[in-house]
This record gives sequence, C-alpha cells and structure tokens, in this order.
Amino acid sequence: KEKAKCAVCRTETEYTGIASTNSFGSPDIDTRPPQMKRSTMFAWVQRCPECGYCASDVSKATSQVASMVHSSEYIRQLADSSYPELANSFLCKALVDEISSDYARATWSLIHAAWACDDAHRDGPAKTCRSNAVGMIRKAIDFGQKIADQVGLETAIQIDLLRRVGRFSEAKKLIQTQRDTITEDIILNILTFQETLIASEDETCHTISEALPAQITPVVEPKKKWWKIW
Ligand SMILES: [Zn+2]
Repeated sequence: KEKAKCAVCRTETEYTGIASTNSFGSPDIDTRPPQMKRSTMFAWVQRCPECGYCASDVSKATSQVASMVHSSEYIRQLADSSYPELANSFLCKALVDEISSDYARATWSLIHAAWACDDAHRDGPAKTCRSNAVGMIRKAIDFGQKIADQVGLETAIQIDLLRRVGRFSEAKKLIQTQRDTITEDIILNILTFQETLIASEDETCHTISEALPAQITPVVEPKKKWWKIW
C-alpha cells in the first residue's frame, strides 16, 4: 500500500500498488491477460474517493486535467450505472488521457474498461468500450502515437476489437491491407485465425494460444510488460 495525494483536490488516500503477480494460461488475442493477472486490474487505476480523479498516478495533474475532472461529462461517466465501477474508473481515465492528448494511453484505458465489463458480464457496455477504442486507436495513429511497440501488434489489436463488435468487413479489410507489412509469424498466425473467426461471424473471446500451432505456448515473462508476450 502506498499513500498518494490527489493533485486535483489534495486529499491523501492509500492505494494498493501493483505487485508482481503470477499469470497462468494464455492471454486473449486482444492481449487481455489470464484471470490471475486480471484480478489485479483494480490497481491499474487510482480513483480519488473525494473528487473522483482517475489516473495511474493521482498525484499528478495539469490544470486542464483538473477542469476535466470537474466537467459534467466526467461526473456523469464516473457514476454511470450501466457500467461496472471499475469500468467507469478506466473510462474516466480515458477522458483524462484524451484531454492530455495521449491517445495511445486513452486507447488502453478504453480496452481496460472493456475487460472490466467482460469480467462483470456486461456485453453491451463492453462493446461500446471496444467501439470507442477503435476510434481512439485511429486518433492515436493520426497523431503519430503508437499503442504498441511491437510491429503488427497494433493491427492485431485493432482487428480483434473490430471483430468483437461485429464490424467484420472492416476487420477483414484491415487484414487484407496490413498483412504484407507484418513479418512476425505469430502475428501472421493470429491474422489467419482471425480470418476464420470473421468468416463464421464469431464475436466471442478467444485466446492467443488457440491461434498458434500446438507446440508454441505464449509465456508471460516477469518484468516484461504483459502485452509483450511473444
Ligand atoms: Zn481528489
């Protein structure tokens, strides 16, 4: 546990830090980690109990961020009962990231909100988060920001988001236009797997290991960022 003073309202709160956790099983194809790791998701975002500021570190905020936290849009999102509470924290963090012009971070906040909805079995809200993440990735790309360092991973994530919200023709088109730019076998395997899922209009969640030949098991290594699993 660590104490942090909210940069918006000056309230000091104790937050649980992200300790290293074990992760078993295969991540999903949008890089969503297996259950053990996912259960620490609450610690990926700090939410000030006083003013509702949501950030990975509430001790930092610009004046622009502070006015976002006080905006009606933000206050409405923070208490939106159609989403689980954790999803609202990530969605509010996405608003903060966006106002800070960090569209790559905002994309991940939206994806994390989708995972929080998945875990609470809220399918409709999860779809809304994923649709918004697709828009945010495009904005990130337009502004020259990368959502993942690994070549092709950004495309793989985009395709999965589109498929999960039933935007099959857009997903298919993206595979067709991007395949030649991808060199890594694992990503190419995933794209081929995605084509099969798209052909059968499958919107459900699948793991990375399903997309890979049986002898390869994706391993989440400690100290590596969890989405750099290959
Ligand atoms: Zn606060």
